[in-house]
Amino acid sequence: MSESTRTPINLVVLGPPGAGKGTQAVEFAQRHEILKISTGDILRDAVQSGTDLGQRAKATMDAGGLVDDQLMIAIVKARLSRADAAGGFVLDGFPRTVTQATALDEIMAGQGALIVVDIAVPDDALVERLAKRRVCGQCGNASSIASGEVVGTMTRCEKCGGELVLRSDDAEAVVRERLRVYAEATRPLVDYYSSRPTFRVIDGHQSPIAVAAALTAAVDDVRAVVSAGSPGSEGAAR
Ligand code: ADP
Repeated sequence: MSESTRTPINLVVLGPPGAGKGTQAVEFAQRHEILKISTGDILRDAVQSGTDLGQRAKATMDAGGLVDDQLMIAIVKARLSRADAAGGFVLDGFPRTVTQATALDEIMAGQGALIVVDIAVPDDALVERLAKRRVCGQCGNASSIASGEVVGTMTRCEKCGGELVLRSDDAEAVVRERLRVYAEATRPLVDYYSSRPTFRVIDGHQSPIAVAAALTAAVDDVRAVVSAGSPGSEGAAR
């Protein structure tokens, strides 16, 4: 077995709302049989089950804002400390601020390279995608209503038959606020990571299959660079 197949993949998927991070994270994690951690899903589950976390996060999420950094850091730190994360992971939705990114570096210190891939999509395409996005109220699967289709005509999830609904924070005004918050708080992460040899940008304005191929190629490329380095290069390449 080569070095690159043995070393766990620790991947952060960055990108604006609607870039397809969630879809790609699920697909990548399944294909590589590694853990997927989506902070958006964790928060939505908490809201749905009415836990203390859900009650604290709901209003912020509904307004398109960001949940408190320290709360998010504690959630991710706890999840990454569990045994199943040692085999590698895909992080979707975290980090979202430079404070969260700095904390992730501390959590990952000495634990191998952190691969960061930014899925880039132009703003006008994002607004259109989010307006068409529907999620299954039962299994959470994301779908897109076809262009020209009357909203509400496709009402069943193709995976489980559950009813498709507009995600509460995909309402137009909230989408605009999420994009504003992204530009202000999350886009600076591209600068935070961009000088690292483990950072790549891929084109997210293409089909999901093409984006998945670009993501895999980017991760393979980083792993080749990291494993070509001398022992200890992972720390340096962080
Ligand atoms: P998207 O990427 O489509 O905007 P997510 O499902 O990742 O949506 O997140 C939904 C909402 O959950 C965010 O708008 C935000 O309110 C909250 N959230 C998720 N992850 C974080 C995080 N790391 N820090 C702060 N808030 C978060």
